[in-house]
Formats: sequence, structure tokens, C-alpha cells
Amino acid sequence: MVDRDRLKNTDFKLENSYANLPSVFYTKQFPSYVLDPKIVILNKSLIKALDLNIDTLERDGAEIFSGNKLIEGSMPIAEAYAGHQFGHFTMLGDGRAVLLGEHITKEGKKVDIQLKGSGITPYSRGGDGKAALGPMIREYIISEAMNALGIPTTRSLAVVTTGESIAREKVEPGAILTRVASSHVRVGTFQYAARFASYEDLKELADYTINRHYPEAMNKENPYLFLLEEVSKRQGALIAKWLQVGFIHGVMNTDNVTISGETIDYGPCAFMDTYDPSTVFSSIDYQGRYAYGNQPYIIAWNLARFAETLVPLLSNNQDEAVDMAQNMVSRFNDIYKEMYLSGMRFKLGLFNEEREDENLIYDLLNLMHKNGADYTNTFRNLTLDKKCDIVMFETTEFSSWFNRWQERLNRQEKSKEEIIKLMKSVNPSVIPRNHLVEEAIEAAVKNNDYTVMNKLLEVLLRPYDYADYQEEYAKLPEPSKIPYRTFCGT
Ligand code: AMP
Ligand code: MG
Repeated sequence: MVDRDRLKNTDFKLENSYANLPSVFYTKQFPSYVLDPKIVILNKSLIKALDLNIDTLERDGAEIFSGNKLIEGSMPIAEAYAGHQFGHFTMLGDGRAVLLGEHITKEGKKVDIQLKGSGITPYSRGGDGKAALGPMIREYIISEAMNALGIPTTRSLAVVTTGESIAREKVEPGAILTRVASSHVRVGTFQYAARFASYEDLKELADYTINRHYPEAMNKENPYLFLLEEVSKRQGALIAKWLQVGFIHGVMNTDNVTISGETIDYGPCAFMDTYDPSTVFSSIDYQGRYAYGNQPYIIAWNLARFAETLVPLLSNNQDEAVDMAQNMVSRFNDIYKEMYLSGMRFKLGLFNEEREDENLIYDLLNLMHKNGADYTNTFRNLTLDKKCDIVMFETTEFSSWFNRWQERLNRQEKSKEEIIKLMKSVNPSVIPRNHLVEEAIEAAVKNNDYTVMNKLLEVLLRPYDYADYQEEYAKLPEPSKIPYRTFCGT
């Protein structure tokens, strides 16, 4: 491989620790050259948080974030992984992404800097390796909104257009998103190791992962069992948070489940408006496998696949190892449920626990389902003590639920102010509603107008503010005859 031009003094401090893993785990891969790179979005607050320099990146960002020039110290690779896609096991890998390296912040935090849409790799499986502008803007908006909601997620540092045209449902401008992640190790990476690599390779991957994400495991009697437990807890906590804000990932394949516990891969994801557990937006999810209400069951299934990969490491005695894995998997539902209920209690302003809380929570959700109530705005209005705008509020069933709730609130020794403060801290007053996200994308892609997106982001980055200027963004879209559909954008 002939080297690329290198940029010095960019403030990036890059390591390439992943490239020290056995070579089965990656392929060295330069990003493809692009014709005419232009920055369209730079995430200034993230640039600051990573101890990078805004002026430098305004000057050199088009070259850096397109991959046309490489940062000093970068050794770009495409990672290998496999995964169950809609239940079917497949060999995958970074088919349109390259990892430039791991940036180390001043505090010593390590983050992957990855270009997404940077051209074909050995894992492209016939794809063009490219990304279109619309879906990259979508990922930018939703990942940053998720972060502001307090949900672990990969971040978006920049979007550049490439000057190329990309053929998708229609022809779109090409773009590259710079994704920042605490790592890109996935359940699918472990599946790849378990299926296609040696025991030693699998062990190296597990040790690398422990060292990077769960260093406390090293002092445990069985570090790999600890790894399985902690990943399960983080994923459980993550999915509970998704459900609490009405987020539907849309493509919870095992390759899209991180070991770090961050949300990754914003393809066909979307937020639910009307509460209905069977809500699906993705145009390719024909069976509703990844519907809103299925997400806890799917993550349990995905974690079972993760557990299987660890069996050779858990014990030399295979029966014992399988028991350990199964034991963890069978405990997952209880662990998850507790996390979910505890978050839902907060949404209702409950500080303590009572046995009847579960019924109180599910009775409200059932009423919302029956009456077609908007998920976010129901909790928003309960927080604001505004009994208007939602038809369900006028029903006698709701009145009786409301009285039960008030009685429950009165049984805890908390002031009204404390209760409202808690509710405001967990019930977003604004979410990236589909119609708003679409408007922002359309203005940018069709008219090169990023003001709509920037205004939307300003609101989404303060989801718990309950400020007057946000009112407009909390409104529901006009009813549409056509159900909202999302596309992978691949
Ligand atoms: P995703 O559905 O985005 O999780 O991607 C699933 C797999 O398809 C991953 O291995 C991606 O790298 C690959 N992939 C997605 N889009 C493309 C593309 N345009 N060209 C090549 N590979 C792709
Ligand atoms: Mg993926």
C-alpha cells in the first residue's frame, strides 16, 4: 500500500491498539479518495470534549473526515465481524467504514475515530462502500439527540459531502460520517472469533475487550463470566432506556450490539409517536422482529449468542461452562425488568418502590395503547400537570388511574416540587420526531440548507429543559394516511 499524505499538528493523538490484535480481526484499508470533499456539519461541542481544535478542523476537516489525507499516527483498518441478521448467521465486517485509529483525550479516554461511507473494503459483499447524505444527517441528528437524552451512544463528529452521486432509492449526494465510539467491538465480533478464528484468537479478543471496557474483570475469579454479566447489565440498562423514551432501533442484529453498551448503527431507527408495542418503522422488518415492544426479548436472544461465544473461555469443563452461560442468560429477564421498572417509576415521579407499582405502570401503558395516546406527550403532560391535548385524559378509566397515581404519590414523603423535578429529568419534552427529522434532512439534501437541522438540534440538545421555545417542537404531525417508513440507507 502506497502511503497517503499525512497531516501533522491536528491535535489528534492516535493509537492503533485494535491493529495489535491477531490479523484475522481486521484488514489494513485506506479510505477511497473522493472527488470534492466539503464539510457540511462539524460537531463543535464534541470537538472540544475530545480536546481537538475547532480552527484546525475547520481548515483541514474536509481532508481528514473524507479520508483524502490521513492524520499522523493513523493506521486505517476495516474490522472483521459476523452476526445474526434477522436471525440468520452471516459473515460481515466493516463494508463501508474504516477505523482511522483510537484518539486519546487529555484525561486518557480512548475513542475510536471511524469514517462511515469511506469506500469498499474486503467486507463489502458487493456493496459500493458508500453512504448517502440523507442517512448520514439522520445518524448525526439522532445520535446527538440520544446523547442529550442521556442514553449511551456512539457520537457524530462530522459529516462531509464527497462530491459524488450515490444511487439508492433515488440518486443522492455521497457523504461520509465520522463516528466516535468507545469501541466498535460487537457481539458479532465475538461470533466471528468463535466461528472463524482459533481459541487463542478468541481469548485475545476477550482480553482486549476486558482491558478496554471492563478492566475490573481482571481481578475477578472468572473474568469472562464477569464480562458476560457486565455486558448483559449494560445492554439491559440500554434497552430499558430506549423503551423509556420510545426509541425503536429497527435493526437489532447481533452485529449492531456493542460490547461497550453504546447504541450503534442508526439506520432505520425512529421514535414512536402513538404508544403501541408493535410499532415498526423499518421497511425491511416484515415480521416485526424488531418492533418497539420486542426489543427486550431480542436483546436477551442476542446476549445468548454472546454467551455461546464465551463458552470455551468460561471453563475447561464444557458442561460447567454451558451451565454458567445458561444461568446468566436465564437471569437476564429479571435483571432487565428491574431496570425497566425503576426507570418507569421515575417517569411517574416515584422515588421509592411499592409492589403495586408494576400494575400502576402497565395499566397506564395499556390505557395509552387502547386510546392511541402519544407516548412522549402523555408523560410530558403528566409532568406539566396539563390535562389537555390528549383524548385519553378525558376518559373515566384514565381518571380512576390518575386518582390511584395521586394516592401513590401521596404515600411517599416527597414535595410536589421534588416530584416534578424528578419527572422533568427523565421525561423528555422534545424528541426527534419523524416529521421534524425528515424536514431537516430534506432542507439539507435538496436545498443545501442546514439551518432547519441546526435549529432542530438546538432544541433536541436540551430535551429536559421544558422551555417555552420548545413547545412548537413537541407538537404532533398532521395525521398522515401513509405510515412512516424508514430505510437502512445502505
Ligand atoms: P448495517 O445494516 O448498517 O448494520 O450493515 C450490515 C453490513 O452491511 C455491515 O457489514 C456493513 O458494513 C455492510 N454495508 C452496509 N452498507 C454497505 C454499503 N453501501 N457497501 C458495502 N457494505 C455495506
Ligand atoms: Mg451495522
